Amino acid sequence: MKAIVIHAAKDLRIEDRPEETPGPGQMRLRLATGGVCGSDLHYYNHGGFGAVRLKEPMILGHEVSATVEAIGPGVEGFAPGQLVAVSPSRPCGGCRYCREGLPNHCENMRFYGSAMPFPHIQGAFTEVLVADASQCVDATGLTPGEAAMAEPLAVTLHATRRAGEMLGKRVLVTGCGPIGALAILAARRAGAAEIVATDLSDFTLAIARKLGADRTINTGAEPEALAAYAAGKDTFDVLYECTGVAAALAAAIPTMRPRGVILQLGLGGDMTLPVMAITSKELDLRGSFRFHPEFAVGVGLMQKGLIDVTPLITQTVPLAEAEDAFRLASDRSRAMKAQIAFS
Ligand SMILES: [Zn+2]
Ligand SMILES: [Zn+2]
Repeated sequence: MKAIVIHAAKDLRIEDRPEETPGPGQMRLRLATGGVCGSDLHYYNHGGFGAVRLKEPMILGHEVSATVEAIGPGVEGFAPGQLVAVSPSRPCGGCRYCREGLPNHCENMRFYGSAMPFPHIQGAFTEVLVADASQCVDATGLTPGEAAMAEPLAVTLHATRRAGEMLGKRVLVTGCGPIGALAILAARRAGAAEIVATDLSDFTLAIARKLGADRTINTGAEPEALAAYAAGKDTFDVLYECTGVAAALAAAIPTMRPRGVILQLGLGGDMTLPVMAITSKELDLRGSFRFHPEFAVGVGLMQKGLIDVTPLITQTVPLAEAEDAFRLASDRSRAMKAQIAFS
């Protein structure tokens, strides 16, 4: 079977790998669709991010949907041919944080396609994937492309949970890549009254409006437009910071109401912060990292038609041209979410 393997920056290969057989509690899955994520792009464009560096070849990918092909011993509730969304979150279940109900902080997390630990955790961009049944969520009724959006959607649902009460809140989203765009859907679903979204790309901002943003601002073209929200008593209760760029966060902080909540989702490495403003406004700066139960929640919301991710999916390319998906996904002027069709 073929797998998409990163060897170093810009060295992406489609290689043959042996197929595994499903053990107890596992299933053999035929991959349907894989979405290219920002972290995949970091490996592809730079060989890693921050202190995380590729030290050996690694199969990329963690946003996948698949059809069930074979069912291992002890698995119930799945049938061959069924479409499933596969969660890349594989906590150990036994460590301190797993037992405390914080599986995204698992000390032995084996998240697909991650070079954080060594040996690296191999990803899911393989034609055939053996996964634990507990990672699989029935995605009947969704397209394979939608089902492959469950992972980034879960990231934003988890962030929304970290935000606390959302009903009637005024929300700012800085950075409208896939995570910012999905944050618009998640915040609206949770009851946000007003959502303003910023980016430097008119292409992504057009999608943000389609997803329900009340107003979008191109901070490159109209840098003063955001500052208007800092007048008087300020505006926003909640900020989804999805750029990881210090300047974007610094520009957003004056627009926040006292005791507003900043959700830091963007992974930009170290950022310099206006701590004085955070202190005097009593802002809550909250990190948000990955997810766990929100994966199945997101699939359910999509199945019920309560969240529609289809406007995000801008390109789908066949496996043989997978590198095109990485090149496209790196171009924010024409791609939101590029996906690879495995079958
Ligand atoms: Zn992702
Ligand atoms: Zn654990």
